[in-house]
Amino acid sequence: MTNSLVRVENLKKYFPVKLGLFEGWYFNPLPKRKKLYVKAIDGVSFEINRGDTFALVGESGCGKTTTGRTIVGLYRKTGGEIYFKGRPVDTVLKENPGDFRRNVQMIFQDPYSSLNPRMKVYQLISEPMRVHKLVKDRKEERERVAELMKNVGLEPEYMTRYPHQFSGGQRQRIAIARALATEPEFIVADEPISALDVSIRAQILNLMEDLQEKYGLTYLFIAHDLSVVRHISNKTAVMYLGRIVEMGDTDEIFENPLHPYTKTLFESIPSVDKVKQPLKVTIEGEVPSPINPPPGCPFHPRCPFATDRCKKERPELVEVAPGHKVACFLY
Ligand code: SF4
Repeated sequence: MTNSLVRVENLKKYFPVKLGLFEGWYFNPLPKRKKLYVKAIDGVSFEINRGDTFALVGESGCGKTTTGRTIVGLYRKTGGEIYFKGRPVDTVLKENPGDFRRNVQMIFQDPYSSLNPRMKVYQLISEPMRVHKLVKDRKEERERVAELMKNVGLEPEYMTRYPHQFSGGQRQRIAIARALATEPEFIVADEPISALDVSIRAQILNLMEDLQEKYGLTYLFIAHDLSVVRHISNKTAVMYLGRIVEMGDTDEIFENPLHPYTKTLFESIPSVDKVKQPLKVTIEGEVPSPINPPPGCPFHPRCPFATDRCKKERPELVEVAPGHKVACFLY
């Protein structure tokens, strides 16, 4: 059996844009208007092995959340391929959609909006079990809900309460229990702690690590806080304007960041105090619009090392050390 659980090849997700009169003229001044798209993901490839915690990091709007949502099927991909256990997801979904949906779950950033406020905890956790016919009767269902609540650190006696009767951290525990209810192998966790109080973030992270070991889970962990990424992940990919610019083992990326954007990302987050920074890089300017991305290297308008070549050619992601890939002409 291959170790690869999820493989993404040249994945693209474009969203059509509707612009107002003046914005339309600015972005698209041609007399004959062509359709415009936000290229949220523009050719992303990576592989996640069983048991991995694969982190996707980058600034807001870089495409990391869209990548997670496209993999779980919340968005329809524009191009490329997603493989689950070595088979194209499109084929898996045609043959056995229930199996993929049971096996792949998502935890969202905001536990206040991701849980239906009109459902009791018991309903929230038992609903996926019933949908996927994983319990034979009411007694087993109740036992499974109680067991999951215990495993995420909640008292089973609270199963008749509503989400608003819990704190933010407890709600995220309910969301995790709901995701685990289908006995998934793969979970996409989209900034699962960033909406929570700082004092309880570590508890939820530790819980996710314990559950990974207990249930043999594989995570795609989407985050912008690099100290969290370093703590929880064993692989890291850095995204910029819908593309991966650097990828490798988390320790290697943090000890030896190569791409100028990765270096600036590390410098801008003071909590990452142990990261080795061989070269101090300062960038100016805003992230360009994904509606009208720059030609060549997407980072060239902000990169202090940009050359004429960077303005015309797009650097491919190439392996510069075992398992360490960078998309930059400097390497
Ligand atoms: Fe900078 Fe050029 Fe490397 Fe892009 S390819 S990061 S512009 S040096």
